[in-house]
Amino acid sequence: MTDFKITKIKSRWILDSRGNPTVETDIFAGDVFTRSAVPSGASTGILEALELRDGGAAFLGKHVTKAVANVNEILAKKLIGFDVREQEKIDLEMINIDGTDNKSELGANAILSVSLSTSKLAARLLDKPLFEHLYELSHNKSRKDYLLPLPCCNIINGGEHAGNNLSIQEFMILPIGAKSFSQAMQNVAEVYQNLKSILNEKYGKTAVNVGDEGGFAPNLSSTKEAIDVIVEAIEGSGFFMNSDFVLGMDAAASEFYDGTIYDIDGKKLSETELLQYYLDMLDDFPYIKSIEDPFDQHAFRGFSNLTAKIDKSIQIVDDDLTVTNIKILQKAIHENAGNTLLLKVNQIGSLTEAIKACQMAFDNKFNVMVSHRSGETEDPFIADLAVGLCTGQIKSGAPCRSDRNSKYNQLLRIEELLGDNANYPESFDSWKKYQ
Ligand code: PEP
Ligand code: MG
Repeated sequence: MTDFKITKIKSRWILDSRGNPTVETDIFAGDVFTRSAVPSGASTGILEALELRDGGAAFLGKHVTKAVANVNEILAKKLIGFDVREQEKIDLEMINIDGTDNKSELGANAILSVSLSTSKLAARLLDKPLFEHLYELSHNKSRKDYLLPLPCCNIINGGEHAGNNLSIQEFMILPIGAKSFSQAMQNVAEVYQNLKSILNEKYGKTAVNVGDEGGFAPNLSSTKEAIDVIVEAIEGSGFFMNSDFVLGMDAAASEFYDGTIYDIDGKKLSETELLQYYLDMLDDFPYIKSIEDPFDQHAFRGFSNLTAKIDKSIQIVDDDLTVTNIKILQKAIHENAGNTLLLKVNQIGSLTEAIKACQMAFDNKFNVMVSHRSGETEDPFIADLAVGLCTGQIKSGAPCRSDRNSKYNQLLRIEELLGDNANYPESFDSWKKYQ
């Protein structure tokens, strides 16, 4: 008979995609074990759960020995004997042991590594794919057909993720015209390679250096220039705007806001002027269908005003604004600030809370996009999460660099496993059919 009880927990530090240390944890039930690693952001929201770092000299203050010790010396002892199928019970136990609002005692990185690994171990012992277990955890029922996500791929990097002058952090291509996830990835990869040639030809070979999320980081002078070159790459690959691809962006506007003024493309704009900037942009480029963090992380009013003024088919995505926290998401829903939740497990620090944020979003007709962080590992967890929660959308950077492709590649495997039961989104609202 399978024994689902935790017998041992062992954590360590490993390096993430930026060369910084992060937490990785193995959880054992007898001889069987699973492993999860925690990602890390650069353009982080102020209200995210706390990522515990040591300070001091090691790794320039970024070492995680305290977080690792919190797993090995505190959580490992308290959680022995817990049943890994009881995800919520385990997460609540860790939240209670931590005892703070933002997980600052043990560290969200410590808690999350255990939380994610727990769900993997349960899936392994139940002999189910992880996405299936995550679906059952979040929906309390089982199903046969699943929704693969639309990959929102960031092919030009700017802002905090690149050493160029682009204010906007992410320029994403969304392959809406594909009929399957694998076709979508092929279309994206073809555009990516054509973009590389165009950038090389137009701006020289340094223009094809890549940023933190694997997208190119050319030193373009404006948002418009970046959009134009992306459209050229899409059309040059034989695809059509609107029918095959639409565009998305993450402004990550807190990073170009000084408390009074937004400094974008060399222009100094007030909140009202930035709102007009986006409205003009949407008029000029009607295939832009998703804008993340258009204003500062405290600017609920800016998000609400923009959401009220645009067509309902356009997504306004809340990332730093809501930090995957149901209390803040509730406020955003109440104020109509945005219409889409960006779901990042490490912003809140436990799987159970991330699932609750997703459910709250869906209950209030918000779309949900599962997201990586700019600092990633080879752990593909979020691929299964996107399928399990049926979000219908994921962003994991460019189709380049293994820290980014580990997620997309896992989705290719899931699609293969599901065969005819793999569905690809017809629209941003496709998730509604899968709840
Ligand atoms: C983002 O802002 O959506 C993002 C993925 O970047 P980071 O992880 O640096 O917050
Ligand atoms: Mg963001």
